[in-house]
Amino acid sequence: MLDIHLKLINSVDGCVDEALCGLVRASGGLSLLKGHRVLLRSDPENLRGKVALLSGGGSGHEPAHGGRTSFFFFMGCKSDLFLIISVSSGVLLIVKNYTGDRLNFGLAAEQARNHGVAVDMVIVAEDCAFDQPSKAGRRGLCGTIFVHKLAGALAEEGSSLDQIVSKVTEVLKGVGSLGVSLSPCSVPGCRPSFDLPPGDMELGLGIHGEPGIKRSKVASADEVVKTMIDHMTNPDSQSHLPLKSGDSVVVCVNNLGALSCLEIAVVTKAAIVCLEGRGVVVARAMSGSFMTSLEMAGVSLTLMRANQETLRLFDAKTSAPAWPNLSSVCVSGRNYVTEPQAASFLNHGPLSPVMRGALERVCSTLLEKQEELNALDRAAGDGDCGNTHAEAAKAIQEWLQDHVVPGDPGQLLSVLAGLVQEKMGGSSGALYSLFLTAAAGHVTEGQSNAAAWAGAMHAGTQAMRRYGGAEPGDRTMLDALCPAVDELMALTTAPPGGQLAVLQTAVQKAASGAEATRDLAARAGRASYIAAERVTLPDPGAVAVAAILGAVLDGTP
Ligand code: ADP
Ligand code: MG
Repeated sequence: MLDIHLKLINSVDGCVDEALCGLVRASGGLSLLKGHRVLLRSDPENLRGKVALLSGGGSGHEPAHGGRTSFFFFMGCKSDLFLIISVSSGVLLIVKNYTGDRLNFGLAAEQARNHGVAVDMVIVAEDCAFDQPSKAGRRGLCGTIFVHKLAGALAEEGSSLDQIVSKVTEVLKGVGSLGVSLSPCSVPGCRPSFDLPPGDMELGLGIHGEPGIKRSKVASADEVVKTMIDHMTNPDSQSHLPLKSGDSVVVCVNNLGALSCLEIAVVTKAAIVCLEGRGVVVARAMSGSFMTSLEMAGVSLTLMRANQETLRLFDAKTSAPAWPNLSSVCVSGRNYVTEPQAASFLNHGPLSPVMRGALERVCSTLLEKQEELNALDRAAGDGDCGNTHAEAAKAIQEWLQDHVVPGDPGQLLSVLAGLVQEKMGGSSGALYSLFLTAAAGHVTEGQSNAAAWAGAMHAGTQAMRRYGGAEPGDRTMLDALCPAVDELMALTTAPPGGQLAVLQTAVQKAASGAEATRDLAARAGRASYIAAERVTLPDPGAVAVAAILGAVLDGTP
């Protein structure tokens, strides 16, 4: 039976212990308390006289809590507290506001007190979802990791239990979180925690699979982020985070489990822009997976109002394995764009209009052929060969609009290499860029006769072969390019009157080389992964080469 909720585990019963073991084995500084689902710092001697932190909850929120807390960590917390506290000056329990967690940690605290341990508890309840929270109060979400970090830094520098509790309690007044998800999650061995049809998203959900407050169609990242921040800061809601222009915040963009890194980065940009648009200073931003809900395809935003002292603690070094290596530079106001140095070509040179005309024809030919090349690439590759060539053509057209074509052909080829490298994409982009870069060194304004151009074409082709690893006969653009270049080499000896004939033959050879790729088995590029009998059309890269050479020749006097 196909179970769509299959997970890559060994057994449902063993997965939590195995995951804990994996975490500890991969870390240099954590160890497992034998017989318990408890992780400890492996250097208890360094805790002497300091406050120990204890956090935890159910599994499924990895890397919380094991990769996060810098001192101790509890998982499936039972009554083991008294076993592990001996050297510290006190114990702070960091608890997310859920009934089960409160009960278990409360029990642990009572037992510790009975053993004479100084213990206190901070309950994190920063969920901004509900306008009118029920008696159970606001839920504890990803804001918990801020408490781990700040309390950890305070403990490390020797603050007392009371000092830590009062500091984090104060900070927590300025922390708020909200989640949104495009999918439910499922606990190993169970069905999804709720139904969410594809195309719908749910706002304000908890991290235990509890459904949220509002369902709607999935919107753009910018719109979703705006909705979230509006909701989180709406003064009409009892659980809002007061935030005004001029406030400084730390923002955490937390993957709930199954969003791609690309989506998380897009959301991060949206969150920073949205906050800055309200006059809020984004002092730090962290994005990644911190407090997950198994494979829930969603994201939560946590905001923490921050002053200098909060930032100092936030920036403090930690060895907790899942804490990102963040910069302590303020996000807002940092100049994050580097302007490229514009190259200036002073001289037009007599070749400029000829080369401009050739480039214009190449570009319009490639744009005309976009769909044809895509169709050829669909048959044997990923269907984008027309698009990659069209991107290159558009980039060159744009460049031509407001630049003088340098009189020095070597400089021109270098510019084209740069444009193609940046804009074309695909294998073609890299291959053409290599070709143009290698060719550029062989033609200069002083040396741009037909023989020099033939040498440049040859050098470009050699570079493509060297780095691409393909040979003529492998069903690539080389099957059009190489026969043409071989013919062009005749330019080195052809009499001045015979040059046009050589060019025409070269273009014909490119065209017939491209056509002949129909019968070749691909040995390079994506097409090499496809059975030869399924590839019956010519290679798109080779067809493009023939078209380019044809376009250059068209205007040759
Ligand atoms: P991608 O394969 O990355 O999607 P494109 O679709 O832009 O790149 O280009 C595909 C073309 O690149 C192929 O049709 C083939 O002509 C050419 N090609 C692929 N690999 C090589 C190689 N190693 N050497 C020369 N040409 C290659
Ligand atoms: Mg392709």
